[in-house]
Amino acid sequence: MNRLQKLKLKLQSDFKINLLQKHLAFAFIVILSVFNNFQIQAQSQQLFKVVIDAGHGGKDTGTHGYGVYEKDVVLDVVLKVGAKLRQHKDIELIYTRQKDEFIGLNERAVIGNKAKADLFVSIHCNGVRSDSPYGSETFVLGLHRNQDNLEVAMKENQVIELEENYEEKYGGFDPKTPESYIGFSLMQEEYLDQSILLADYIQKNFTQNLKRKNRGVKQAGFLVLRETYMPSVLVELGFLSNKSENNFLKSEKGQMHLAEQISQAIINYKNALHIESEEELVASSDVQKNKDTSDEYKATFYVQIVATKRKIKASSENFKGLSPISRVKEGDLYKYRFAESHSHKYIQNKLLEAKDKGYKGAFIIAYLGDKKISIEQALKTQIK
Ligand SMILES: [Zn+2]
Repeated sequence: MNRLQKLKLKLQSDFKINLLQKHLAFAFIVILSVFNNFQIQAQSQQLFKVVIDAGHGGKDTGTHGYGVYEKDVVLDVVLKVGAKLRQHKDIELIYTRQKDEFIGLNERAVIGNKAKADLFVSIHCNGVRSDSPYGSETFVLGLHRNQDNLEVAMKENQVIELEENYEEKYGGFDPKTPESYIGFSLMQEEYLDQSILLADYIQKNFTQNLKRKNRGVKQAGFLVLRETYMPSVLVELGFLSNKSENNFLKSEKGQMHLAEQISQAIINYKNALHIESEEELVASSDVQKNKDTSDEYKATFYVQIVATKRKIKASSENFKGLSPISRVKEGDLYKYRFAESHSHKYIQNKLLEAKDKGYKGAFIIAYLGDKKISIEQALKTQIK
């Protein structure tokens, strides 16, 4: 072997080592990025827990009409909602009952609270003495603005009388006296906004897609909602006391339609509150490129932490040390917001910070100037 050959061999082996190092480095990067992706996925695929509560059951039949009981209709619909939602891997379902059994109102809320659920949806049917009322309505917890709402709540709450020691269990609450309902609105305020958001989706779906009569989103004092520590609604699908609505409610087809619209509303709600990734949204929106993105055309994001009727000082000591806090008035509610930025990513991190401090119901909101806009709209203003 002459010197030239030796040199050639050495160069070749150096090259091989070099190549091996490169391969190793490359493999390492691949492993890292897979691991990283996995972490990101694990984070964004945190399960969204939904309690679906079939009202009544067992000895408590609920209302009835034309030979059918509320407890049976609502169980059928709840099981169908469950079947639809089960197709979504990022949703965890929690039932309060899956068969014909008696469960107290408190117990239902406890099931949701123990599971640390993100949402509580209670399904019921209406029934009155007269045949004429019909249509669907969705309730959130609060002060009933009129007698009708109070009557629905009284009727649904009356089932506690079937529970043992109900006076003791519900702190002397008498479901039949209006006085018991005073002060009801003080609870659940933290989640009122989100509860109304879901209630709106449900009523919109029923009205637009099923052409049901819309009796609206309403507030009343329901015991089952009062005890839950999460956004919660109570859906009255329709009136069993109305002949044609009764036919719809007990039919397989009617129940499938209702279940489809309820589950779609839950998905809409989940998407509105738990945005998976900025990229997905941007990809799905018709992005206008070359758009003027100087600051005045850029949306501002905030974390909304509390909505309440009480006006309190917007300072960090009132909000578990979070800073900065700002306050806006919308309708008769004061909304307290944490942080402020044109960057959605920055606000997403701030959202986690707020949740860590115990504001479990916090979510992101966006404004363009003084105008509140959707997150989708706001993200479009971020594109350069
Ligand atoms: Zn009911």
